[in-house]
Amino acid sequence: MATYTPMIQQYLQVKAEYQDAFLFFRLGDFYEMFFDDAVKASQELEITLTSREGGGEERIPMCGVPYHSAPNYIEQLIEKGYKVAICEQTEDPKQAKGVVKREVVQLITPGTVMEGRGLQDKENNFLATISYFDDEMYGFAYNDLTTGEGKATLISGNFDDVLNEVSILGAKEVVIDSKFDIELQKKLRDRNVMALSFEDSSSIDRSFSHLLEELHQEALKKTVSRLFHYLYRTQKRSLDHLQPIKMYEIQQFMKIDYFSKRNLELTETIRSKGKKGSLLWLLDETRTAMGGRQLKQWVERPLIDQKQIGHRHSLVELFIHHYFERQELREKLNEVYDLERLAGRVAFGNVNARDLIQLKKSLSQIPFLRQILLSLNSEVSNDLADRLDPCEAVTDLLENALVESPPISVKDGNMIRDGFNEELDRYRDASRNGKTWIAQLERMEREKTGIKSLKIGYNRVFGYYIEVTRANLHLLVEGQYERKQTLTNAERYITPELKEKETLILQAEEKSGELEYELFTQIREQVKEYIPQLQALAKAVSELDVLQCFAQVSEERHYVKPQFSKDRKIVIKDGRHPVVEKVLDSNEYVPNDCFMDNEREILLITGPNMSGKSTYMRQIALSSILAQIGCFVPATEATLPIFDQVFTRIGAADDLISGQSTFMVEMLEARNAIVNATKNSLILFDEIGRGTSTYDGMALAQAIIEYIHRKIGAKTLFSTHYHELTVLEDELLKVKNIHVSAIEHNGKVVFLHKIKEGAADKSYGIHVAELAELPKELIKRANELLNQFEQKQQLLEASNMTAQSNPTILKQKNEDKLVDSSIAEPSATAQLSFFDEPRELSKPVV
Ligand code: ADP
Repeated sequence: MATYTPMIQQYLQVKAEYQDAFLFFRLGDFYEMFFDDAVKASQELEITLTSREGGGEERIPMCGVPYHSAPNYIEQLIEKGYKVAICEQTEDPKQAKGVVKREVVQLITPGTVMEGRGLQDKENNFLATISYFDDEMYGFAYNDLTTGEGKATLISGNFDDVLNEVSILGAKEVVIDSKFDIELQKKLRDRNVMALSFEDSSSIDRSFSHLLEELHQEALKKTVSRLFHYLYRTQKRSLDHLQPIKMYEIQQFMKIDYFSKRNLELTETIRSKGKKGSLLWLLDETRTAMGGRQLKQWVERPLIDQKQIGHRHSLVELFIHHYFERQELREKLNEVYDLERLAGRVAFGNVNARDLIQLKKSLSQIPFLRQILLSLNSEVSNDLADRLDPCEAVTDLLENALVESPPISVKDGNMIRDGFNEELDRYRDASRNGKTWIAQLERMEREKTGIKSLKIGYNRVFGYYIEVTRANLHLLVEGQYERKQTLTNAERYITPELKEKETLILQAEEKSGELEYELFTQIREQVKEYIPQLQALAKAVSELDVLQCFAQVSEERHYVKPQFSKDRKIVIKDGRHPVVEKVLDSNEYVPNDCFMDNEREILLITGPNMSGKSTYMRQIALSSILAQIGCFVPATEATLPIFDQVFTRIGAADDLISGQSTFMVEMLEARNAIVNATKNSLILFDEIGRGTSTYDGMALAQAIIEYIHRKIGAKTLFSTHYHELTVLEDELLKVKNIHVSAIEHNGKVVFLHKIKEGAADKSYGIHVAELAELPKELIKRANELLNQFEQKQQLLEASNMTAQSNPTILKQKNEDKLVDSSIAEPSATAQLSFFDEPRELSKPVV
């Protein structure tokens, strides 16, 4: 190292502390990177790799980005999961003796970005932390640096539960200690955690101890302390917007594990990974960014406390009944900017005057929101109105201090109103007077010389000048003007008087610019005092926004207020799948009922592929989730239990990957449900066992149903294409068969999407293949083969019968060859639901 130049030595010293980050090393107007950082950054950012002498034997690889375009490059690196350490010159190069002092002023990481493309308005950016404690217990905490919001919990035993929390939050970065189990680190990465960061300190520090007051267990305090140590270490500034960490318990919410959340497409779809097509997408009628984030949090964590749910329902109902007031609320909410993130940026010190004007405008909407709520004259809306504190002191301050449309930069002046500060007014007068004087001078000079085109201008290099065109030069009196600049067509002059005024004006402008910046900083500091109030207000506004959004969607889409049953009964009339219904034209969607009680715990659903089995199952789960987040549900009548957990095993895009591992995933998901479900849970199993050979799969499926029936008692919807399983209805008391009806019409299958009692009749696989327009020849051959298989099966059965060894599950019932009586008159009977009489199996297919 000794052979390197002092600057490179300085670089290496700083870099040693930031091994896992790109070091953006400030050199004049550039951030430079050296050595491996440079090689890697030039690839990742597609910028030119160069090299320079650094005193060593070889030239040092180097690449750099101009400081003014750095944010863009930083964002690109962060989006790829890297960290970036910003190393600035911390002394004036002119004053420096030797190498200019440099320090890292901020470490930007995926979990701590404060601005840029990576931040979505309607999504939080959570940084999480996990601590492991001896007695099989994990401390888990998280925080969103942009909003300051944070929570913590203890999770005993199961790391899957911890992983689940990480997934729910979508945390891109997790802070752990350096001894954290390697296997578990890998599991975190598998859950899309981009960056794992290490922080060994977990002591309680004075700088943040006040934020831990709501936490009582030592383990929680330590966990949160680790998070704060990391934040202070990386951000290196006061973080006055961090809110006291709230304690929560995962048992307070309906538990939806990672797979189920994905399968149900709550916040993103499986295929496109985008929000579009998800439940969140359907619901998002929020008007503010804060509301959007709140909505996502609520969708991720349905409630299980009936009182809390009931409170949300009452407000939704109230808003539905007051259409005009709701539209007014929506209009006003439209004008409310992201108070929460604005507050965060005030604390972080990176707001400008425009942001503060946004804050003022937002605050000025609050009295209107209050008024509207109070006019509804109900206890629940009054309570919400009481939480809307308009923070008038802040509005007044900003109204008096700032002009309506200030510039983006806080260093160029023109932000502060006249009359706000006397000193500033004096400077401004001086500069304005000077300018008036100059305007007068221009008029006088024109009169004196008779040159009409004479003008006084200004540029940065020469300051104020008098410009006279070449043709008029002879009109000037010699000796009074000093020539400053020659242009092709004109000459520019100055006079001693003009210079004098110029100095006055420029000084006044410089001083007023400096003073404005100082005043702005003071105003920002004053606003900082109100951060807790602003955050509380943001919370109330975001809740209001989500509740009006629920009302809006519920009314538009004709949802009904759900009732909750004490005896775990489900009664849904005309239920729909909220998203499929929206995507289809709503009159194309065939509504279906669902009835389950103590006698009907497990519904076994049969029916052809593509008939709507999994849509039906999902719609039950989604309705429960909607009910428990406080929204109404897509049905004309709905009574539901409060489910503690929802489990799904639904064949999805992953199945395309095929092979053993897929089946393993299927079994893991099944296990998750079977091990964790209680009587109060909802289980959806779609085609379990499909991923293995027929008997194998069928045996497993039956064993699973029996197990749930005997040991768990959870409400279960089980779809299967093993018709053999339908005989379970006769053996297991609480298992009932239902099916999705389809008819054959002119030899083709037509799906009615209507759920009916009893088992389905026949697998329509070949017809579906026909619908998919496989070659005619191939379809014909499949039909021939089917016939052959059926004949063989019959022979086999006959011989089995004689051998007396026919297992129940393989019994091929005669009914399998029958179809609905509805085939004859599809339109009339197709609309029957299970509330009607069970169907009769009668007509054989010809
Ligand atoms: P399965 O699980 O039986 O293979 P799906 O539930 O995936 O079938 O449904 C297949 C398609 O049928 C869906 O994509 C949807 O477009 C349509 N569908 C399902 N249920 C209904 C319904 N109740 N009304 C109208 N269309 C439906």
